[in-house]
Amino acid sequence: MSGTSRYVSAGLRSDKLTSLFLSSTPVSVIKGTSCHEARWSSTASIVATKRARQLLFLSGSSPVHPSYNINSSSLRRRSLNTMAGCSATVSKPALGVAPENATDHHVRDSKGELIGFQNPHPSAGVLRNTLQTLGKMFLSRLQGKMPAPDLSNVHIPVIKPHFLEDKSQTQSRSNDTKALRATWLGHACYYVEYPNGLRVLFDPVFEDRCAPSRFVGPKRYTQPPCTLADIPKLDAIVISHSHYDHLSEPTVRELAKHNPEAHFFVGLGLASWFRDTGIDKVTEMDWWEDATLTIKKPIITADGKETVEEIDAQISCLPCQHSSARTGWDKDTTLWCSFAIKSGGKSVWFGGDTGYRAVPEMPAEEDDYGPKYDSLPRCPHFKHIGELRGPFDLGLIPIGAYKPRWMWSGLHSNPYDAVEIFKDTKCEKAMAIHWGTWVLTIEEVEEPPKLLKEAMKTSGMPETGVFDTCAIGETKEF
Ligand SMILES: [Zn+2]
Repeated sequence: MSGTSRYVSAGLRSDKLTSLFLSSTPVSVIKGTSCHEARWSSTASIVATKRARQLLFLSGSSPVHPSYNINSSSLRRRSLNTMAGCSATVSKPALGVAPENATDHHVRDSKGELIGFQNPHPSAGVLRNTLQTLGKMFLSRLQGKMPAPDLSNVHIPVIKPHFLEDKSQTQSRSNDTKALRATWLGHACYYVEYPNGLRVLFDPVFEDRCAPSRFVGPKRYTQPPCTLADIPKLDAIVISHSHYDHLSEPTVRELAKHNPEAHFFVGLGLASWFRDTGIDKVTEMDWWEDATLTIKKPIITADGKETVEEIDAQISCLPCQHSSARTGWDKDTTLWCSFAIKSGGKSVWFGGDTGYRAVPEMPAEEDDYGPKYDSLPRCPHFKHIGELRGPFDLGLIPIGAYKPRWMWSGLHSNPYDAVEIFKDTKCEKAMAIHWGTWVLTIEEVEEPPKLLKEAMKTSGMPETGVFDTCAIGETKEF
């Protein structure tokens, strides 16, 4: 696809974007620590990094990425001696195993500057421009073809989640069970506890509305199962893309307040948004890049010895088929991603928000997976992910916000698409996300779980026990 893609919004200023990308290029960053000396070192390092970037930007040189590491042996000894707490570092993201043409999603201007992103495969379909879509939607509504879902009799259960207890400053973090624990917190938000003690939160949005305004926009019809303060201390917070049902400023601000040690992982172009929000512990990544998060914590073993417990996690930014925007003028200027996180022998693939296979407008009685539509292209990202990075113990895969299909199929998977994604990515088990919280589209809100069972059966798999839905707040072990 050409560099002057239809996906690039009009009026995009490349000078602004150039500075955006320069100011937010991935850097190895010191992460938090409870040790006072280390905290000062960390702050000084980040300031130094910013200064260095500014100077290099002004002088026209390429930015460099100094790797700061406060975990010098002397500092580690001090931390251990005082049992002051843990520290974390993030390696500079680097391209991992990737298919050919792994940067086809980059959109560049005539000077070769990266100015945005695109879906590189025909499975995304031709995304109509916003005015055309709104016009067609308006006409369909007038004709009564797009009734809003009926919320008068909805029974999606919300239960109080049971999290593993936060361990004390001096205890090992590893769980008593050797299972991966995954708790659905509504819509695309999942909280995952790894057996080694790593705790990750995906796409948290705890506001009533997923919109720029507190007064207008989709309003929750199910409540969050807990508050952000109820969630045990986090190590990593992963954000798939900039849409309001996946990224909320009040939520990330509050999370950063409760979890000063936690690190945010986001797609390319989005780190400056976090820095503007006052969050410096952020690493932005391109598709197929890997970074290592290393957490070190001084502990006292059962026989009273002091030692350092280390948790390593491989964070992989992977593709999906979607879009991004937070305003009317930033469409597709930040990257949409799926993520894989492997740690302590367990692996999770988080699908975020994705389409699989754009389908045209068709009569309601026709099956878009029927023989007539066999030749429609499928998104190859998921086979690549499965072949190059799979298998995964758990997939978190979107199943909702899919009707009308002519409008949403390029961007949002329905349950039938989700089952294909599940197979392609080689997930052993999966849980459904992206449903049950806000009305974003016109399907009845309790339809996605029913269709998921049908789709599993059609694929020759058990209707339950492999790719399931659950109550909001419910935990499953894998
Ligand atoms: Zn989205």
